[in-house]
Amino acid sequence: MTKAGRKRKTQEKLLVLVGNSSRRVVKTPRSVYAAIPGRNKFRPEQRTPIPNFTLAGDFTSQKFLGSMEGAVLSGKLAAEVVADSLAGRLPTQRAKPIHDSVM
Ligand SMILES: Cc1cc2nc3c(=O)[nH]c(=O)nc-3n(C[C@H](O)[C@H](O)[C@H](O)COP(=O)(O)OP(=O)(O)OC[C@H]3O[C@@H](n4cnc5c(N)ncnc54)[C@H](O)[C@@H]3O)c2cc1C
Repeated sequence: MTKAGRKRKTQEKLLVLVGNSSRRVVKTPRSVYAAIPGRNKFRPEQRTPIPNFTLAGDFTSQKFLGSMEGAVLSGKLAAEVVADSLAGRLPTQRAKPIHDSVM
């Protein structure tokens, strides 16, 4: 079967599954980074060398990939950094060295 034929067959199957409605599949190519080996070392930690500047976001260093779980965990870690700083405590997190290539 040709590529166009396979595509039409898939569309027909989808129509059977969801009915002939206004539903559409929306694809966003390259919407998230490729989680391939060796990328983690480029993720910055929540604590930064700039006073009163803390990072949160799925791209920061935490145990999950770029995901909603990662975004939430990064927010918790960032809040810990702020709380430690306000309380005058030593940081509870271990500092992650910044990779040479991003300096
Ligand atoms: C198509 C798609 C599907 C996904 N599906 C899933 C899924 O099924 N499960 C899952 O776990 N994750 C999924 N993700 C990933 C998940 O959405 C992200 O990991 C998560 O939303 C990241 O949260 P964040 O708070 O780090 O960043 P964001 O949600 O990107 O928030 C950053 C915010 O900062 C704002 N901003 C940017 N620059 C500035 C500026 N200069 N000034 C002010 N505001 C600014 C942006 O407008 C945005 O609102 C998906 C992502 C995409 C794109």
